[in-house]
Amino acid sequence: MELCVTGTDDEALLLDLLNTTPVIDGVPTDDLADPHDADAWLAARGLALEPAERDALIRVRAALHAVVRDGASPELLAPFLSGVDLRPTADDSGVTWQVSGADTAARMALAWDGLRISHPGRLRPCANTACHLFLLDRSRPNNARWCSMAVCGNRMKARRHYQRTRG
Ligand SMILES: [Zn+2]
Repeated sequence: MELCVTGTDDEALLLDLLNTTPVIDGVPTDDLADPHDADAWLAARGLALEPAERDALIRVRAALHAVVRDGASPELLAPFLSGVDLRPTADDSGVTWQVSGADTAARMALAWDGLRISHPGRLRPCANTACHLFLLDRSRPNNARWCSMAVCGNRMKARRHYQRTRG
């Protein structure tokens, strides 16, 4: 059974989370490396997490980076899902599934899986291999390649132009 149990809020948070390790001026950085910075990042998204839950979020980020960027097995997400329960309830409108026991890390794993089902292949790394960001391509032709046209798109175009005119 394939079931999407998270909403667009969690999908947006997932993309934000994946994009917390940007390369700035050629240097890989981590917006969540410092606990104070991490708390500020979370607060900006309406979240206040205990240190243990914050650490789990940083660990699930590493697992999701491996899955989305390197094609690692989603089995890496298993440790984050152990406390999650899914329970069906029925009412006038039909059956709905209630998730319980999902901390923020588990919700990110579930959001990744929701996107896998609802938007197959559309969450992917930026085509600029020197860039560590990700994109969620919601365009109809599904041909977006860059985290941002303004940054990586233009940079890669300029590089190709330079190589063409030089060669
Ligand atoms: Zn990029």
